[in-house]
Amino acid sequence: MSQHSKPGGISKRFVIIGGGPGGTTCATYAARLGATVTLIERDLVGGAAHLLDCIPSKAMIATGGAMAMMKDASEMGLAKVDVLLDVDALRSRIQDIEDRLESSVTELLRSQGVRLVHGHGRLLSPNQVEVTTVEGQIEVLDADIIVLSTGSRPRIPDWAPVDGHRILTTRDAYPPPELPEHLIVVGSGVTGVEFVHMFNSFGSKVTLIVSRQQVLPEKDPEVAAVLERSFLDRGVRLFMGARAESIESIEHGVKVHCDDGRVAQGSHVLLAIGSVPNSDNLGLEAAGVVSDGGYVVVDHNCRSNIATIYAAGDLSGKLPLSSVASTQGRKIAEHAMGLHAAGPHRHIDYDKAASAIFTDPEIADVGVAEADAFAEGRKIRVTKVPFSVSAKALINNDSRGFVKIVSDPATGVVMGGSIVGRHAAELISVLALAVSANLTVQDLVESLFVHPALAEVLGEAAE
Ligand SMILES: Cc1cc2nc3c(=O)[nH]c(=O)nc-3n(C[C@H](O)[C@H](O)[C@H](O)COP(=O)(O)OP(=O)(O)OC[C@H]3O[C@@H](n4cnc5c(N)ncnc54)[C@H](O)[C@@H]3O)c2cc1C
Repeated sequence: MSQHSKPGGISKRFVIIGGGPGGTTCATYAARLGATVTLIERDLVGGAAHLLDCIPSKAMIATGGAMAMMKDASEMGLAKVDVLLDVDALRSRIQDIEDRLESSVTELLRSQGVRLVHGHGRLLSPNQVEVTTVEGQIEVLDADIIVLSTGSRPRIPDWAPVDGHRILTTRDAYPPPELPEHLIVVGSGVTGVEFVHMFNSFGSKVTLIVSRQQVLPEKDPEVAAVLERSFLDRGVRLFMGARAESIESIEHGVKVHCDDGRVAQGSHVLLAIGSVPNSDNLGLEAAGVVSDGGYVVVDHNCRSNIATIYAAGDLSGKLPLSSVASTQGRKIAEHAMGLHAAGPHRHIDYDKAASAIFTDPEIADVGVAEADAFAEGRKIRVTKVPFSVSAKALINNDSRGFVKIVSDPATGVVMGGSIVGRHAAELISVLALAVSANLTVQDLVESLFVHPALAEVLGEAAE
C-alpha cells in the first residue's frame, strides 16, 4: 500500500454514505491515497456487519461451540461438567466485542484523517450529498466522488407480524429477550442454518422450515447432506419442501402455517428469508442513479451509470459478504484515485470469493462447485479425502467431513473446492489462495504442511 500513497498529489473529495465494511475500507484507502474523505454514518461505524449481523452471530455461535465442547468433555478424557448458558453474560460479551471493534475502526479512520459525520446521508445530485445530522442539522457536502455503502436489512414479508419478542428477525436474536424453548426457523439458506445450529447448541428445541428438498439449496448436495444428517442427529426437526405462508400468535407461542397444510408450533419464530437493500430515501432518483430492485447497478469497477457515484457492499447487489464489501471498498478507492491507470489493476472476480457457514460441522467453499461444473458439462477432476484419515482430526475427537478439490484435468490448476469439518472456514483460505493465484494441485502436493494438522488433508486431496 505505502508505495501507492498520495500518487501525483491528486486530492479528490470523497463523500461516503454508510460506515460498514464497504464504506470504512473505502474511506481508509482513499484517505491513504491522498483523498479528503467524509464518512456519513447514521448509527455506529462498523456497520450492520459488526453490530447486527456477522459479528454478533459468530460470537453467539462461538459461545454455543464452547458449550458443546464442555458437554463432550468426557470424550476428551475430562470429568463430565454441567454447563448452563448465562444470557446476561452472553449479552455483555457481544456488547464488549462490538465496542472494541467500533473503537478500533473509529481510531483507524481518525488516524487517516477521515471526517466522521453522524447522520443520515442522501444524494442531491451527482456531486452533492445532504446530511441530516442526529442533532437535526442539515449540511450539504460537495464531492468529486460519492460512494454508497448503506448495506441491507432483513426482508420481512407481509404475512410475518414481527414483534421482536416472539416473532423475530435475525437482528432481534443477539440474544433474544428470553432463550426460546422451541424456535422455528423459516429459511434454510446460510443465515437460517447458522441460527438453527446456534439455538440448538444453546439447548433450544429447533424446527427448520425448508422450502426445497435440500437445506442450503445453493450448495453442493453432498455438503448439504452432511449438515442435514448433523441436524437430524441433534434432534432438529426438518419440514422439507414446505413454504411458510402465515404466522399465528397463540398463548405462549406461535404457529407457522405452511403452504402444504403442515403447521409448526413453537415458542418463537425467526425469519431468515433474505434481505432488502437500504436504498429508500437515499436520493438515487435525484442523482439519476440506475437501480434494480433497490440495488445500485454497477460495472466491474463498482461504478454506477453516473461516473462520480460508486456502490460497495450489499447495496451493489453482488455477493452479500463482509469480505466482498471491504474488497469493493478498496477497489473503488483505487479506481477513483486513478491507480488502475498507473499499473496492473485486477477486477474483483466474485466467482473466486471464499465463503463459510459457521455450523457444526463448518462448511466452506470457493470457486467452481462440482455440481455446477457437472451441470454445465465442464471437464473437471474431482478428488475427495475424508478427515477420518487425519491424525489431527482424531486428536480433536472430530473426524467428520471431508475436503473436495475441483481441478482442471488438463493443467492441474485448482478451480475450486469444498471443505466440511472443523475449522473449514480457516482451511478454505489455502484453497482460496490456490484458486486466485492459479496454483496447481501439484503445488499443493509439494507444500510442506505442519504435522499433525487438519491442513495436511488438503495436500492429500490434491494428489
Ligand atoms: C445474520 C447475518 C450473518 C452474517 N454473517 C456473515 C459472515 O459470517 N461473513 C461475512 O462475510 N458476511 C456475513 N454477513 C453479511 C454481511 O453482514 C454483509 O455482507 C455486510 O454487512 C455488508 O457490508 P456493507 O458495508 O454493505 O453494509 P453494512 O454492514 O450493512 O453497513 C451499512 C451501514 O450504512 C448505514 N446507513 C444506511 N443508510 C444510511 C444513510 N442513508 N446514511 C447514513 N448511514 C446509513 C447503516 O447504519 C450501516 O451502519 C452476514 C449477514 C447476516 C444477515
